Amino acid sequence: MGKMFNSAIVEKFVGKETPFYYYDMGLLQQTLKSCKDASSKYGFHVHFAVKSNFNKRVLSAIKEIGFGADCVSGGEVSRAIETGFTNNDIVFAGVGKSDAEINLALDNDIFCFNVESVHELEVINELAGKKGKKASVAIRVNPNVDAHTHHYITTGLDENKFGVNSWDLPKIVDTLKASENIKFLGVHFHVGSQITDMNVFKSLCVKVNEIQQWFEERGVTVKVLNVGGGLGVDYHHPDEHSVADFETYFKIFNDFLEVKPHQEVHFELGRALVAQSASLITKVLYLKHGIKKDFVVVDAGMTELMRPALYQAYHKIENISYLDDQTKATKPYDVVGPICESSDCFGKEVELVEASRGDLIALRTAGAYGEVMASFYNLRPGIRSVYSDEL
Ligand SMILES: *Cc1c(COP(=O)(O)O)cnc(C)c1O
Repeated sequence: MGKMFNSAIVEKFVGKETPFYYYDMGLLQQTLKSCKDASSKYGFHVHFAVKSNFNKRVLSAIKEIGFGADCVSGGEVSRAIETGFTNNDIVFAGVGKSDAEINLALDNDIFCFNVESVHELEVINELAGKKGKKASVAIRVNPNVDAHTHHYITTGLDENKFGVNSWDLPKIVDTLKASENIKFLGVHFHVGSQITDMNVFKSLCVKVNEIQQWFEERGVTVKVLNVGGGLGVDYHHPDEHSVADFETYFKIFNDFLEVKPHQEVHFELGRALVAQSASLITKVLYLKHGIKKDFVVVDAGMTELMRPALYQAYHKIENISYLDDQTKATKPYDVVGPICESSDCFGKEVELVEASRGDLIALRTAGAYGEVMASFYNLRPGIRSVYSDEL
């Protein structure tokens, strides 16, 4: 796998206004194709989790390769439709869908609502009834599988706001049977994000098998098995592992999921499809020497990339201004942004090539949950993007 940066590329950054997201469109394409090839082998359906990146060029590339869209708000449903995803390729999840969002999705006849509670099921039935429509739904079941990941991004444990817990399932079946404006499609799961332990997905398969069996024993036909997303990426070695191991991932589901002839398997991948394809490029503004530390103050902050401040996430940081000079010494720095918060720090004791004012710094693996989380806090100007094929 090639490296994302070389001096010819960095040369083209010079003079551009920083900070900006740099998208490697070739790498994105390679990643999407790798996922497509690995999933088609088993006839699996892949939806892209739009919340991880709603950049228009990224979404277009994803639509072109033939994946669907997994949305978590009315805004994302609209964005997916604008991008050209067909309504039959759109699913809509989320614990707090508003009436307006449900109505928007009903008007657009989306493929499926992923329903997260008994109460929500009742409301969707009622709103669909008012329109004389039938809403297709999958029930998001909380499988009580520990994703072994950061507690902020674990979603599949019992004490969690996401999904229907096992003890509520009988109530779901009763409600389904009593709901004239609901068409039951299947079951949905999503146990967390940045999952690198493949055993988590094996455990998930075992639960899915149990739960779909439970539904079918009660006379409810399960057509769709939606196993969510969560496949992790290598934040520490972005160049060595620039494409996630889709082969192994999909093979696990093929080996461990009991798929009946009338069933389809659906996935909702976000991070694994886009994370490695972008870096946040920022410029060194100031060097500051503390008593025991040296600080590099850069012109990007948590307003452009929030993950480090939000969940202490690691992003590899590189000084890309001296790629052709292997002899430059390195030094540990705390890399901090301009925002008035102590948590506005991208990394502590980061070993970087000795920095000068004006050097370009890359924060790697920033294509997922990066640009989408940008904010206007401190009245920042909003984020810019640069694409490798438009340099
Ligand atoms: C966030 C989310 C995903 C995507 O998760 P990744 O870890 O980015 O793959 C999929 N499904 C649902 C319901 C989500 O909330």
